[in-house]
Amino acid sequence: MLSTTLRSGALAAGPTLRRSLATHTPFYEKDCSSITPPYAQLIGKLEYVRELLNNRPLTLAEKILYSHLNDPEKSLSGGGKIRGESYLQLTPQRVAMQDASAQMALLQFMSAGLSQCAVPTSIHCDHLIQAIDGAESDLKRSITSNKEVFDFLESAARKYGIEFWKPGSGIIHQIVLENYAAPGILMLGTDSHTPNAGGLGLLAIGVGGADAVDAMTGTPWELKAPQVVGIHLTGKLSGWATPKDLILHLAGKLTVRGGTGRILEYFGPGVANQSCTGLATVANMGAEVGATTSTFPYTENMRAYLNATGRAPVARAADQAASMGFLNADEGAEYDEVIEINLSELEPTINGPFTPDLATPLSKFGSFVKEQGWKDELSAGLIGSCTNSSYEDMTRVADLAKQAKAAGLVTKVPFLCTPGSEQIRATMERDGITSTLEDVGAVVLANACGPCIGQWKRDDMKDEENAILTSFNRNFKSRNDGNRLTMNFLASPTIVTAMAFSGSLSFNPITDTLTLPSGKPFRFAPPAGQDLPTEGFTQGNTNYYPSPTPEPQPETEIIICADSQRLELLEPFPSHFGNRGLELPPLKVLMRVRGKCTTDHISAAGPWLKYKGHLTNISENLLITAVNDEGGDVNVAFDYDQATGETETDTIPAVAKRFKARNQPWTLVVDDNYGEGSAREHAALQPRFYGCAMIVARSFARIHETNLKKQGVLPLWFADKNDYSRIGSGDVLQTIGLADLIEGRQNAEVKLKVTKRTGEVFEILTKHTMSEDQLKWFRAGSALNFIRSQMS
Ligand code: SF4
Repeated sequence: MLSTTLRSGALAAGPTLRRSLATHTPFYEKDCSSITPPYAQLIGKLEYVRELLNNRPLTLAEKILYSHLNDPEKSLSGGGKIRGESYLQLTPQRVAMQDASAQMALLQFMSAGLSQCAVPTSIHCDHLIQAIDGAESDLKRSITSNKEVFDFLESAARKYGIEFWKPGSGIIHQIVLENYAAPGILMLGTDSHTPNAGGLGLLAIGVGGADAVDAMTGTPWELKAPQVVGIHLTGKLSGWATPKDLILHLAGKLTVRGGTGRILEYFGPGVANQSCTGLATVANMGAEVGATTSTFPYTENMRAYLNATGRAPVARAADQAASMGFLNADEGAEYDEVIEINLSELEPTINGPFTPDLATPLSKFGSFVKEQGWKDELSAGLIGSCTNSSYEDMTRVADLAKQAKAAGLVTKVPFLCTPGSEQIRATMERDGITSTLEDVGAVVLANACGPCIGQWKRDDMKDEENAILTSFNRNFKSRNDGNRLTMNFLASPTIVTAMAFSGSLSFNPITDTLTLPSGKPFRFAPPAGQDLPTEGFTQGNTNYYPSPTPEPQPETEIIICADSQRLELLEPFPSHFGNRGLELPPLKVLMRVRGKCTTDHISAAGPWLKYKGHLTNISENLLITAVNDEGGDVNVAFDYDQATGETETDTIPAVAKRFKARNQPWTLVVDDNYGEGSAREHAALQPRFYGCAMIVARSFARIHETNLKKQGVLPLWFADKNDYSRIGSGDVLQTIGLADLIEGRQNAEVKLKVTKRTGEVFEILTKHTMSEDQLKWFRAGSALNFIRSQMS
């Protein structure tokens, strides 16, 4: 694999360091060989797709998706509606993973037996760094406490030629924007704010580890073609209004579900006059309305950002692709819905608490606080994170800090700043932004997620109601400091900063004054900033950056301690078949699950997240919040012994473990929309780990159904939904006709022979959605087993 890394080591030495004669601005140029999109190929494919679609005008989102189709005819030839209905088989260009979600993705990738990734891939150590008392000590402490995870990730990265961004390098999305994002590409990331990269006019989609593994192994990645919402921007932001306020306002309009299954595509004159990093903030928080991702047409400011971050070759290639019409929507393209926003009318907005779609304009926020009966006190202000730590954000904030310092003010409450990357941190320091912030009381934390993901060891306000203001993107209960009583409000970095000087929630910096020690009133002037540094970006400590030549090193031993409680090698799942032919062995029904059963019910999050890389340990949470339809209890299952006729009651994972210990393959009977929710691969891995071979549902959520197929679990649908109630725990199911299906016999049907605990026997008919490829996965025991078998 070619290096995608900036040649950081060589920067100081000179060969890649250039000087712009016009401005005397030092800048660097990265090795762009593997980050420049293959535009000719993409545009060629798009031309072919246009013919299939009778040359109808396309949105930008469609152009990007369709130019990444693996087999356009297969995905588009159904003749029906595409957006919102068809399933697209796609070939993403790149994968990025953060340290928490990368663990299981890598463990799965390892079991495919490939020697390197099919697409350029990067790992970013950011989520596991806890903020306590400042960048240096926080980083050291977190590296020690997470050593085994970081060692594992680094060794796996070395073996497979993955770019490894060490702890301290920054937050995944900021690094992707600075280094890998390029207009017009499709990329995946194992984090929900992956869409941040959309600020550079691409489609960046947050996925689970199993989807990332598809791209890493060269398996087509499936996506239900999203609808496309056009956001038409007119006017211009001014004064205190920022791109953050645009997305906070939109979140209020769309609500947390308004973007589900949809791409937000911005267009109109209001796009071009916003900075690239500002657009990234807007794209980042598209995740808060549930959008698949967000994107923008290519702009001058994107070109400037690519040049400023050492990617002039990418900018030149994008210019050319744009001139061929690839990087914006066609004239007359139709959106599924159009939302009009006049940026000139936007005012700063504050969203929350506890949900990002509770939007209140700043001018009404004081009275909102009063109406709710909340104390008019701010307890802390936090700025930065992947959402808002651009050079522009930081210079605007520093402008306020300078005004305050000149007036003799310091912040009234703790004021924490999380730079998004080492490059931002170093550039802030060089340009005096850090000292300006520290002069008024700010604490600059490590370049990592820190308080945004709850890695904030906060000693004040334990179990006390209080209010914080952040420029982050999420504000669920307990997210930042673990205290359910902390009311967390989202606002732009400048509003957070101004409020930190006041200490009160009702302060409106546009209209209100603060009282100086002299007794005189002081009012902030609207903040001024600069989107790119005059002196160019500086790289900072390049020791955090990936090796400049991440060629795979197959001899590398992957580091996993034998007694680790957080990491465990994945053993390939055995095939279900052996020498018995292609019908499943008799399967015992573990339970009949009642009602809603999301991936959260199947594999709970919270404290279990630390076991994400250890399948045995995390499987202890299997279905612990699911309801057993026989009795209506949560986390109760029955172990029925046919020989003695006795039934023991236990927890669901405990009964699953008993079955596994007895080599008893089993099945689940489940209700409608089984597996809805986030695309968590653990929800498919865990039942399989305990020996589940088949799940029979009234209906499945599509993503989870695909995840089950990948792990070698057969998802079947009741042909008659009433059959759900006819099967209970302890019954035995046998497939009839599965062999025909696997062998490709036309019109093959799968029936189930049900043997009740009472001895009664009957048959029921099922349906399925298994494709030819998926049947091959199932026969091999899992998709990864199949990939491995193709290697040998
Ligand atoms: Fe996620 Fe926050 Fe980290 Fe961004 S800074 S990647 S939102 S945890």
